[in-house]
Amino acid sequence: MSKTEQFLADLVGIIGPGACVTDEQALEPHVTEWRNVLHGRALAMASPGNTGQVADVVRLCSHAGVAIVPQGGNTGLCGGAIPDESGQQLILSLARMNRIRSIDAEDFSMVAEAGCVLATLQEQARAVDRYFPLSLSAEGSCQIGGNLSTNAGGINVIRYGTARQQVLGLEVVLADGSILDGLRSLHKDTAGYDLKQLFIGSEGTLGIITAATLRLYPLPGDTTTLLVTLPDSGNAVTLLAGMRARLGDRIESFELVSRFALELVERHIGDAGLPCALSGDWFVLAEVAVGEDSEALGQFLEEAIESGQLSDAVVAKNIAEAEALWRMRHAISEAQKYEGPSIKHDISVPVSRMQEFLHRCARSLHEQEPSAKPVIFGHVGDGNLHYNLTVPAELAGDAKRVRRVTSTIYDLVAELGGSFSAEHGVGMTKKAYLRQYRGATDLDLMRRLKRTLDPQGLLNPGKVI
Ligand code: FAD
Ligand code: ZN
Repeated sequence: MSKTEQFLADLVGIIGPGACVTDEQALEPHVTEWRNVLHGRALAMASPGNTGQVADVVRLCSHAGVAIVPQGGNTGLCGGAIPDESGQQLILSLARMNRIRSIDAEDFSMVAEAGCVLATLQEQARAVDRYFPLSLSAEGSCQIGGNLSTNAGGINVIRYGTARQQVLGLEVVLADGSILDGLRSLHKDTAGYDLKQLFIGSEGTLGIITAATLRLYPLPGDTTTLLVTLPDSGNAVTLLAGMRARLGDRIESFELVSRFALELVERHIGDAGLPCALSGDWFVLAEVAVGEDSEALGQFLEEAIESGQLSDAVVAKNIAEAEALWRMRHAISEAQKYEGPSIKHDISVPVSRMQEFLHRCARSLHEQEPSAKPVIFGHVGDGNLHYNLTVPAELAGDAKRVRRVTSTIYDLVAELGGSFSAEHGVGMTKKAYLRQYRGATDLDLMRRLKRTLDPQGLLNPGKVI
């Protein structure tokens, strides 16, 4: 028996034959990233059914020197969840670990395994009259383990924070197969270092997240969905500041969307698109928990129109209209995929510098690559935009020009004190930028942490650092 055959036999011994896939066709969706741009090859895919099995698989890999690529829903957008091209790496899928171990309405918490699909967690929380606020367009297929490993953001960060803020406790399998058992639901705990934070956002390079204690909230009550037209993209920030001052922390989402992004949705996605005729190039889609006080919002919108901060506002009259507006927003990424080649960026700047960023970036890119069409949308309330470009094939195929475009954007972001990766992570596609834009001390500490927690370098090698 060869070394590989022995490894696979031992693997089947741990997880059972049905949970180990080696067939190339069956592996295909797991070695290809969502945009269909990156492809890898895998030795096999293992789907353990519980934490003990994850630990045993990790121990086996450590003995055999086999690298592990953890995978959740494989909706990540920077190649973090797919193996390299060697065909020697093992995909560790958490999909079978999809139990909610407990849910405690009084404690406002639930313990969920890493493979739980995000939308299922939202539904289960709602079933006990509670709210799990993490929400993003991929919520029907991404998994909470993936969300935590990327410190996902999404549309509700402005009120509830990123994935990191939703975690009270974490269970993690370490590189030597030991289990860090931190599934507590404490809101306060100053007994030593907060170890769970190391694994959140580390994209599977420091440990395998197997379960988490998640924070729940009261349901937000009646919310109002509105689409406003802005005279200029820069007005989004002043509008938000005014709204916050008037309505307090009741803004659940505040998303900037460019007209071109909506046109792509109308062109490519069947039942989504602008629900009414609106002129203008820039829109904000917002969700506000108005509660009993819907008059305050109406008054604010009237005043904002009078003062010229916004040109027009449409308030959804019922749930169906609200859902249509959100369907349109959530369909943008998919629509851009059908439009053709793209260059994607997921940047953040301080909210107060957003207006300057939008104006300067548009000017520079227009001068540099007039054929690139910006498809801008995202979480402007968090200072985070998906600054994507739809580009002709000849530009997409010219690596030098693509790099120049990206550098133009990232250099400006850095100048304004922002980040080249706001919520999608680094994965394999943004590694070079991490080296370029994070300081030497930061990088050195990251490398030392990596060496300490994964001395053999078997946890998602080639990603992040
Ligand atoms: P995967 O893609 O499977 O994995 C992502 C990374 O985490 C990989 O490095 C993987 O190795 C690691 N990983 C996965 N599970 C584990 C685990 N249990 N333990 C350790 N490491 C693990 N992201 C946002 O933040 N906000 C958005 O608004 C948003 N919108 C999106 C819209 C669309 C249409 C799509 C396709 C993606 C979007 N994303 C967004 C990106 C993506 O959905 C998120 O990054 C999500 O958190 C990834 O979850 P996943 O389960 O698919 O993880
Ligand atoms: Zn996003």
